[in-house]
Amino acid sequence: MEDTLKNKNFFSKIVKRRENLTNYGDKQREIIKKSKKIGPKVKKWLLKANKYESSANVSYGLFEFPPVIVKGKADLVYDVDGNEYIDCVLGMAASTMGHCHPEIIKAVNKKSNELIHYFEFPTIPKTDLAEELCNNTPGDFDKKVWFSTTGSDATENAVKAARWFTGCQYVLSALGGYHGLTMGTMGITSKGGPLQYNYPLMNNNCYTYFPYAYCYRCAFDKEYPACDMFCVDYIEKNLLTGKETPLAEELGGVSNLAGLIVEPMQCSSGYIIPPDDFLRGLKRLSDKYGFLLMVDEIQTGVGRTGKLWATEHSGIAPDILITGKGFCGGFPMSAIVTKKDILNNWAPGAHVSTFAGWALGCVAGLKAFEIIRKDNLLKRSNEMGKFFYEGLLELQKKYSIIGDVTGGKGLFLAMELVKDKKTKEPAIEETLFIREKARYDGFLFESGGYFYNRIQIIPPLTIKKSSIERALKILDGAFAAAMKQYH
Ligand code: PMP
Repeated sequence: MEDTLKNKNFFSKIVKRRENLTNYGDKQREIIKKSKKIGPKVKKWLLKANKYESSANVSYGLFEFPPVIVKGKADLVYDVDGNEYIDCVLGMAASTMGHCHPEIIKAVNKKSNELIHYFEFPTIPKTDLAEELCNNTPGDFDKKVWFSTTGSDATENAVKAARWFTGCQYVLSALGGYHGLTMGTMGITSKGGPLQYNYPLMNNNCYTYFPYAYCYRCAFDKEYPACDMFCVDYIEKNLLTGKETPLAEELGGVSNLAGLIVEPMQCSSGYIIPPDDFLRGLKRLSDKYGFLLMVDEIQTGVGRTGKLWATEHSGIAPDILITGKGFCGGFPMSAIVTKKDILNNWAPGAHVSTFAGWALGCVAGLKAFEIIRKDNLLKRSNEMGKFFYEGLLELQKKYSIIGDVTGGKGLFLAMELVKDKKTKEPAIEETLFIREKARYDGFLFESGGYFYNRIQIIPPLTIKKSSIERALKILDGAFAAAMKQYH
């Protein structure tokens, strides 16, 4: 430490890193002003947004210059300059039924002449949607619903309910897990970015992380299935038993753990599909050690993975299922669906939120479930997902930088780009290049992942085959250009 204190270089490095995080809005303004890549209208709106909106806007994490979207129709969106894009960002996985689904819009328009919202009072669409959720989520037992507005709200509510129900404080979550960025959820979300800023987390020290079953880069250097789910054993041996863990001790065993929260397939960290055994293993631990299993289906829900809920692939039922984003056709709604006793456990007013379960959102949600059934969207998710996946696998045969292709479960699709298939060194520049080239050629998708080298493709369940063909062609062109530039 003495040496470190004398080392001015060490401190200047930290100061430099902190400087990178500050005054970002001004730096960004200069970049937008100087850019020759964007049209005059986009530039005007980006500058205006820069002037009036927070510089934390995540769209700059997704694109060098985010398109200013003015219209969405089914699987396409249009920007302020009139450019058309195949949309596989989907307002961040929110417009699962496709943009402005005509039947949802019709139902919402009709209802908006009657009732928009009436606090948390029971309304007919709210109660009907609660019934729909209880009857169509995993688990053959009585359930109850608690509505909210955003994914973060719902996650907070899940943790709140789990803590009250169990009387315990701790929550286990996965490295790479994303569950929201409100003060209450930041500690569960395993993202360095927001945690770099100097605010204390709520209930600090009551969260502990475990490695996710990200098999392409197994934290334990093992291979599935020979590993025999070593990552689940790791949780049991290192976090749930023994003395050197915040969760257990000799006399009480595990007596302070409210629950474990997990995405059945990881989304924000790069669209990662674990073996079905992973969730089954976590369920086994929750049963054995008596904590609640909470699955975050905010992004994986309502057909994205070819089943209504991704959890169904493992054949288990969680204690709490959390939904949000796309489950109400793009309207801001979220909810937790729990075993009956968990939400039967409160007196009036113990929780409340003004717009939770607003009538128009619920009408949109009821319509969305009806459309999924009527138009057989789960089958469609599998068929279109298979077609898209096969197209990505063809690209993998052609381009050596595609180390891994994720798919085979509905429209949950991703690719991981590496400089070398053996060393798996992440191909970060190539990923960004391909994302940007595709964006200017008319195909929007997300990039990210643990090492900034994954491409996440999030189509609506209603995506047209012709749009997939066009998207694959654009990708092909972008990969060819990247290979020319970098290899
Ligand atoms: N959970 C998951 C799995 C998510 O993907 C997100 C959003 N990306 C959230 C929670 C938080 O949702 P929101 O941004 O609506 O608060």
